[in-house]
Amino acid sequence: MSSFRFKSLREATNRQPVAVEQSSVKTSEFFGINVFDRYKMHQNLSKEAYNNVVEAIDKGTKIDRKIANQVATGMKAWAIDRGATHYTHWFQPLNGATAEKHDAFFELSDNGSVIENFNGDMLVQQEPDASSFPSGGIRNTFEARGYTAWDPSSPAFVIGKTLCIPTIFVSYTGEALDYKTPLLKSLNALDNAAVAVCKYFDKDVTKVIATLGWEQEYFLVDEALFFARPDLWITGRTLMGHSSAKDQQLEDHYFGSIPDRVLAFMREFEIEALKLGIPVKTRHNEVAPNQFECAPVFEEANLAVDHNQLLMDIMAKIAQNHKFRVLLHEKPYKSVNGSGKHNNWSLMTNEKKNLLSPGKNPKTNIQFLTFLINIVRAVYEYDDLLRAGIASHGNEHRLGANEAPPAIMSVFIGTQLTSLLNDLEKRVTGKKLSPDEKADIKLDIGKIPEILLDNTDRNRTSPFAFTGNRFEFRAVGSSANCASAMIVLNTAVASQLKEFKKDVDALIKKRVKKDEAILQVLRKYIVESKRIRFEGNGYCDEWINEALKRGLKNTIDTTEALKTFVTEKSLKLFTDLKVLSEREMYARYEITLESYKNNIQIESRVLGDLALNHIIPTAVKYQNILIENVKGLKDIFGEKEFKVIASTEIQAIQEISNNINAIKQLVIDMIEERKKANVITDIHLKAEKYTKNVKPFLENIRTHIDKLEMIVDDELWPLPKYRELLFIR
Ligand code: ADP
Ligand code: MG
Repeated sequence: MSSFRFKSLREATNRQPVAVEQSSVKTSEFFGINVFDRYKMHQNLSKEAYNNVVEAIDKGTKIDRKIANQVATGMKAWAIDRGATHYTHWFQPLNGATAEKHDAFFELSDNGSVIENFNGDMLVQQEPDASSFPSGGIRNTFEARGYTAWDPSSPAFVIGKTLCIPTIFVSYTGEALDYKTPLLKSLNALDNAAVAVCKYFDKDVTKVIATLGWEQEYFLVDEALFFARPDLWITGRTLMGHSSAKDQQLEDHYFGSIPDRVLAFMREFEIEALKLGIPVKTRHNEVAPNQFECAPVFEEANLAVDHNQLLMDIMAKIAQNHKFRVLLHEKPYKSVNGSGKHNNWSLMTNEKKNLLSPGKNPKTNIQFLTFLINIVRAVYEYDDLLRAGIASHGNEHRLGANEAPPAIMSVFIGTQLTSLLNDLEKRVTGKKLSPDEKADIKLDIGKIPEILLDNTDRNRTSPFAFTGNRFEFRAVGSSANCASAMIVLNTAVASQLKEFKKDVDALIKKRVKKDEAILQVLRKYIVESKRIRFEGNGYCDEWINEALKRGLKNTIDTTEALKTFVTEKSLKLFTDLKVLSEREMYARYEITLESYKNNIQIESRVLGDLALNHIIPTAVKYQNILIENVKGLKDIFGEKEFKVIASTEIQAIQEISNNINAIKQLVIDMIEERKKANVITDIHLKAEKYTKNVKPFLENIRTHIDKLEMIVDDELWPLPKYRELLFIR
């Protein structure tokens, strides 16, 4: 009997549910307690320092050295008071994780005594060794230094005993090596472009921020079972496993209550999150067994991205207290739904007006339409770039897999808005509008608030759906850094808004009245971007054919999707708006390809090892038992009769051999293909070889292993099965 598997199962089933904390403390009493937010700055900084930081946050102004020293002193005092002994610059390198290098607050003085020290220089800038982070060839080996620089717009926080200071991370030569740098630049570009457009409607708008509310899906798995599955803990997903007789078909998980042990975990990580100022609000079961979702109230996008990264870390840490592991992989199990991260995104003015929410008067309604139509056109114009922004080895298993939005980018706006756009298209003719025509349009536009009020129109199969007062980008992968998708979206919309302003101004110059000019340009965009709008079921096959007819791309392949990063059009977009330079774009492209290739390489190695060391020996063992049995039957029943009596065993012996032989050969062939791919130096060709020639083996080998799983005695099987992994006892 496989002791490893049964020990894990025993451990997993013996768990006592941890009591759900019956805390009577109100959230308001501890929310943000570990964050150096405005309130704490106000308490701990001089008036001058406080005003300087606030101005830096709101207007992006620089903080001078003297002020930085004051801020550092106040921040240190607060952090030590919260129990911190160390500080770190906290940043988001391109390998998808978050990075920290902890330094203690103390320094040795000349006479050997220890003094607590943390000054402005340490707050503002650090030079971590960048050599272990991906740089895509930007960083030469002789210049391994990189800079981290303080981002005052995201507040510092204390985790455990460490003060974490959110920073950007750039190479010695100034190129971005992280997500935050281009995210901030894209937000800035969007701010400028959106404010300029807002001025048509409201002169008081001075700033537009992007808001982001993410919904994080994840799986939980028992720790003991997790560690008995090397594929799961090494690659994040199961590379084999026959589907469980029951998984999600009864939908009993989605509608069921949250198990106590899970609730205890949720409660604990939510409290930690709330202490860090992450406004987590919603929790529920998801469709697949052991799949859950967590969502906060939306925030300014830069902060929301930081908070999502933080939350993923916190969840992983707290899960261990409950003997769980969190699976953030997009597709941990083959036969059940995968996980995504829905990015709800909108635009908000300095006056706290949501630009995707129509107002009470015709002017604000036209403003609403302007932003809505421009965003649709941005998706139309840069659909392949949005696709590239969500491309990853994990998301590849999810997009278009009958449960997740397809790899085809399209926009859903609902039937009511669709008919409104259709009407506008008909009514605005390009000629000067008569008073009657104007009245008709006004009437149409005036109806928008009512339309949206009872907008129950929800489409959960669209990758990019308008949901009443925001767009929901649903195709983002569950493990992704939200910034990757947001950088593309912000930049695409910024560019589109700039074009809009140019087009409208050109008409105004020709003496077309402002309102009419806006309507004419919007009508042009409605017509041009029509084919990106799709209101039907995005999961069905008809849509694939329909999209093909419309000329929309359906890029299933990740390496193919990533190519968009370095097309002339994309390079122009990002360099024109100063979000990323050409060198940075190429670097990102290469880093993503490299990571993609590495992941397939690791999966291929793990599967090969498991097949040869775990599966085949187990199958042989069981086959020998069968052989002994058949021999015994032959002894008892004799040459003639045993063949009938032992026919199923004989057939099983044959089937086991067939599968073993197939697996052996496939593993040998797969290793051959890896070798061929590994000698290629061009990373694009190499990644392509991995996709085309190595990846298919994973599925083929798995099929044979899954067949063996159904033949071999359950007691011998060395790995926890799907029915065990998928349910929490
Ligand atoms: P659903 O599951 O129906 O999509 P949820 O309530 O789970 O809805 O998630 C909705 C998310 O959208 C939340 O994170 C919420 O904060 C966010 N959201 C709401 N309004 C905005 C907005 N104006 N900008 C960005 N995100 C928003
Ligand atoms: Mg949602």
